[in-house]
Amino acid sequence: MSVPAKTYYLDNNATTRIAPEVFEAMVPFLTEFWGNPSSAYGFGSQVHKHVERAREQVAALVGADPKEVTFTSCGTESNNTAIHSALVTTGKRHVITTAVEHSANINFGEHLQKMGFEVTYLPVEGDGSLDLHRLEQAIRPDTAIVSAMWANNETGVLFPIEEIAAICRSRGVLCHTDAVQTPGKLKIDVKSLGVDFLSLSAHKLHAPKGIGMLYIKRRTKFAPYLIGGHQERGRRGGTENVANIVGFGRAAELAGASLSEENSRVRGLRDRLENHILSHIPNTVRNGAKEPRLPNTTNIAFDFVEAEAVLMMLDLVGICASSGSACTTGSLDPSHVLSAMGVKPMRARGSVRFSLGIYNTDDDVDYVLKHLPPIIEKLRSISPLNPEHPDNEAYDIAGARAKHEQDLAIAKANEVVQA
Ligand SMILES: *Cc1c(COP(=O)(O)O)cnc(C)c1O
Repeated sequence: MSVPAKTYYLDNNATTRIAPEVFEAMVPFLTEFWGNPSSAYGFGSQVHKHVERAREQVAALVGADPKEVTFTSCGTESNNTAIHSALVTTGKRHVITTAVEHSANINFGEHLQKMGFEVTYLPVEGDGSLDLHRLEQAIRPDTAIVSAMWANNETGVLFPIEEIAAICRSRGVLCHTDAVQTPGKLKIDVKSLGVDFLSLSAHKLHAPKGIGMLYIKRRTKFAPYLIGGHQERGRRGGTENVANIVGFGRAAELAGASLSEENSRVRGLRDRLENHILSHIPNTVRNGAKEPRLPNTTNIAFDFVEAEAVLMMLDLVGICASSGSACTTGSLDPSHVLSAMGVKPMRARGSVRFSLGIYNTDDDVDYVLKHLPPIIEKLRSISPLNPEHPDNEAYDIAGARAKHEQDLAIAKANEVVQA
């Protein structure tokens, strides 16, 4: 593995750095306190106390009762569990979700369709927002659950979960929200949201990967997805991932505490980055509504370039960002989120997401703003998509690719020399 001298990490919606406080809280449970929390003797039950403490910390982050918090292995499991439970407990066969969900929902929906269930993917508007009339029209007598994400991981656009949950309540349909992108960025209060289920994933809030939670509102009928032991009060079989749970608890505390920083300082960094790009690099446009939006996320289309090339060039100078598009070998599928928003495939393929976090500084933004414009300019100068390209008519794509590869090799060689 190679890590550049310094990494400028602007991909916090993909995962986040483990906070030192979180790591410290976890260590004892990877060393001395390795007992099984289900054991009756003290060596196990003392561990159990820490799991319950973490449950209180996570519950506090979302305004829930600790009994309403079930630990899972990840955000994906939480989402799958909520939808599965709704289908099992209601005996109904229809699920409503949206076209811009995380693949945890999109692909689970496709799986359900293969199993004979019906899934409606609600379309979104050009700015990524949801038309709630369409939701009302989509609800049927056999609808078990509506699952809509709170904050979109690619664009940061927020859905009005309170209103969605109110519609669900009035129609007697369960409501789940994937709130994985919200901790530390939005104030979360399950009571005022009015949802029945809410998912979080710890690695999006400076805790380890492989631990998540599902909020299950009190008195909601529930069917477990993982069936086994009586852990999590019978709601999820499997020995608790103690160290990760403890880390998640500590991270939940920190996320509550960093809420104002993310909303002022981090938002300021994001806005400076976005405004500078949009005003200084021609033919750029923000994807998705300006507001309501997460304070840390910006998704920008750079016309006439391919995001994958931009990301490769950024990577060479140690900048981590993302295209949000699934990169399958040979073909570059545009992001399903941008496609659902009606963004043309060409523009979608040139879109880059920058997602900031509490560890980003003004220097990071300066560094990106120094390197990004020449990278875009360079790529455009060799781009067959660029209408201003000197010999656009008879443009040799293969030649351009080869030259591009060569440029990258030279850039890489220079990098090695410098290092
Ligand atoms: C990251 C993410 C997930 C998946 O969480 P995992 O813990 O990686 O399974 C789900 N939904 C959203 C919105 C995410 O950003």
